[in-house]
Amino acid sequence: MSAGAEVLGKDLAYECLAGGGDMGAHMRSLDWSKTALGPLPQWPQSLRTSVSICLNSRFAILIWWGPDLVMLYNDAYRDIIGAKHPAALGRPGRDCWPEIWHIIGPMLEGVVRKGEATWSNDLLLLLERDGYAEECYFTFSYSPIRDESGGVGGVFTPVAETTPHIVGERRLRTLRDLAARAGNAGDTQEACAAAIEILAANAWDVPFAALYLLDDDRMSARLAGIHGIERGAPAAPASILVSDLAPPLAVAVRNSQNIEIPNLAEMLGPLPGGAWNTPCHSGIVLPILMPGQPVPLGFVLAGVSPRKRLDVSYRTFFELVGGHISNAIADARAYQEERRQAEALAEIDRAKTIFFSNASHEFRTPLTLMLGPLEAMIERARPSTLVDREELQLMHRNGMRLLKLVNTLLDFSRIEAGRIHALYEPTHLGAFTTEIASAFESAMKRAGLEFTIDCPTLPSPAYVDRDMWEKIVLNLISNAFKFTLAGRIAVRLKATGGVFELRVEDTGSGIPEHELLRIFDRFHRVEGARGRTHEGTGIGLALIHELVKLHGGSIRVESAPEKGSSFVVSIPEGHAHLPAASAERRQPTGTLASVYVEEALGWLPETERRTSEPVRLFAADSVQAPHIIPAAGRILLADDNADMRGYVRRLLGQHYEVETVTNGIEALAAARRDPPHLILTDVMMPGLDGFGLLRELRADESTKTIPVILLSARAGEDARVEGLGTGADDYIVKPFTARELLARVGAHLALSRLRREAAERERALRAESEAARERATTLLESINDAFIALDPEWRFTYVNAEAERTIGISRDEMLGKDFWNLFPP
Ligand code: ADP
Repeated sequence: MSAGAEVLGKDLAYECLAGGGDMGAHMRSLDWSKTALGPLPQWPQSLRTSVSICLNSRFAILIWWGPDLVMLYNDAYRDIIGAKHPAALGRPGRDCWPEIWHIIGPMLEGVVRKGEATWSNDLLLLLERDGYAEECYFTFSYSPIRDESGGVGGVFTPVAETTPHIVGERRLRTLRDLAARAGNAGDTQEACAAAIEILAANAWDVPFAALYLLDDDRMSARLAGIHGIERGAPAAPASILVSDLAPPLAVAVRNSQNIEIPNLAEMLGPLPGGAWNTPCHSGIVLPILMPGQPVPLGFVLAGVSPRKRLDVSYRTFFELVGGHISNAIADARAYQEERRQAEALAEIDRAKTIFFSNASHEFRTPLTLMLGPLEAMIERARPSTLVDREELQLMHRNGMRLLKLVNTLLDFSRIEAGRIHALYEPTHLGAFTTEIASAFESAMKRAGLEFTIDCPTLPSPAYVDRDMWEKIVLNLISNAFKFTLAGRIAVRLKATGGVFELRVEDTGSGIPEHELLRIFDRFHRVEGARGRTHEGTGIGLALIHELVKLHGGSIRVESAPEKGSSFVVSIPEGHAHLPAASAERRQPTGTLASVYVEEALGWLPETERRTSEPVRLFAADSVQAPHIIPAAGRILLADDNADMRGYVRRLLGQHYEVETVTNGIEALAAARRDPPHLILTDVMMPGLDGFGLLRELRADESTKTIPVILLSARAGEDARVEGLGTGADDYIVKPFTARELLARVGAHLALSRLRREAAERERALRAESEAARERATTLLESINDAFIALDPEWRFTYVNAEAERTIGISRDEMLGKDFWNLFPP
């Protein structure tokens, strides 16, 4: 570095320090002769010019001058170096910045030596400008200042401190991540883990953290997450009693307050320092708060950076960290609670479905046992004992109501569980609907209602599940009947605009407008609706709605109070909108309409009812012999219900020999001992159930061909398919009619007898042909001529004794051999 050149007069020399705010004044008052720069008049012009630029700049500027890199700076730079001013002014750089000289010293030397400028962007320098080594970032450039000799006399340094920007960005990132990621956790544990992971990514501002959750009794706290510190360290025990917490921690938990602990290291021993290679000495406690709850859920003990003072913005950062963690955990808990509730609801739903399935079994069996004998009694009751008969009919009617209700609830639960399987069959909807609606004709007549059925033949068949369509039509007519005391009811069907439309119109009480929207809700009933009865559960329309939806259709209602209602069901034409049809053909029960009509008749006044013929669940001839003449035979019946055994035995005993057993194991033993002509078995039995029995029977040669009919209360397609899929010959659902039982048993016995007879005949024929063959052989052997037989391939199939002798080859050598091989031409 070259020295200054000419010496100026004193006044002129001081002109370069003119202006420049506080630093200008300060520099003017300084005795420069005591500094390495020497008296001001001796300063070279290049230095004076540089100082003048520096003092008059609003940007922080520092000038290093001479071989010792003596420091000269302006007001803005003074603000950056804090407590280093005023000692730094006019002092060599090395003396002023011992803590960073190892970084900037070589940089400055390089600039002086090479005469080239440098640029540093956001350089981290740990300045001790405030009594401790502080994390600071600077963007600056070192430019050489040429002196009068042409060499580098000093270094010109504009500086911008970027600390607030760098640290602020970093903290914001942490807060943003806490809100976004920890806030999306599925449960408390996940939220804690995410929070800790995010804090760990910012080990500058959060050198370590230990997250604690209080136990339910709030007596102890458990470590739920940790970063930057070892589990079990004095500042991070795995669990701790609240009563043993250090006082500031206890205060934070008790008062739900953030508390700084400046002497944490003294209290708990050496602490880690996170991203800094020096330990933390202070910490902060952040309670984890739940909205509306006075006691915190837990707390975070975090280390405060040893390289940053806990100023307002740092404290605010910690407050926000505590807030975000609290929110994340609160959200996770709410989500967890929601999920728990949804699971509980689903569990209740499952339990309900199972209950309905089981209940159906438990209800159907006793109902069969009550309704069957009741009908037999009604049949037998003499007209003279009218009272008896009416009482029996009362019992019967109510039994049927119960049955209808059980069936509806069962349908509903199965739809809800997604277990209902529709069977869409091409159906002449006009004829089918007319047939269903006609069942109500006599009831309508008795009630004095005009009843129109206008269901003409439609241009194409409709794809409907017939059981479901029957329920739709019957429910709508039954409702119309219930709520129409006088006037007309009409059932109309037409094809219009790509849909088939069924309308059930009545002139009844109608439905208030505000009720129309809710009318298809489950269990919804209109308060004070005027009808023939108050009976009802509000489930009928909801069921219809579901059934119509299964057909890809819709239902709507048009109604006006005191004028009447029209329920309109529309289902699309064709079958493109339906899932692929199942192949199984459903057995029609044929009893549904009578159940509805019987119930409807129950709503009529006594006088109208008394004149009526009894309408039964089971056809009038139900207990008499079916049209199929029963074949005589021996039947094995397996059922664990004694009443059911007795009832079926009474029904079948009139025509067959019946042996009864109480479970599958006994049935199997009985069948092996003395194979019956037919086995009738319950599905649900202890020990070996109906399906198991069937498997065993089919696997045994001696019982393989016995016809088996399964008898069960598990109504529905799935059970039926299961039944037939296992190789049962038939499947009867309880409650069954006596007629149905007798008819099916008779048919299977007849079928099996035909099969047996056919097998017998086949055996006899085979024996006969065997005998004929033997007779022919004996005959051929006895004749004296040689006799051979050849098949179309010229192979020997027969050689008699005389031929053997004549040819001279043994019979065994010839049989099966080629004629031309033995006797080449
Ligand atoms: P339930 O008949 O067992 O009460 P529904 O679901 O079949 O259940 O009907 C629900 C309610 O809708 C009935 O309680 C009745 O108030 C009203 N409702 C249904 N059909 C008619 C109708 N044709 N006329 C007047 N009100 C009706």
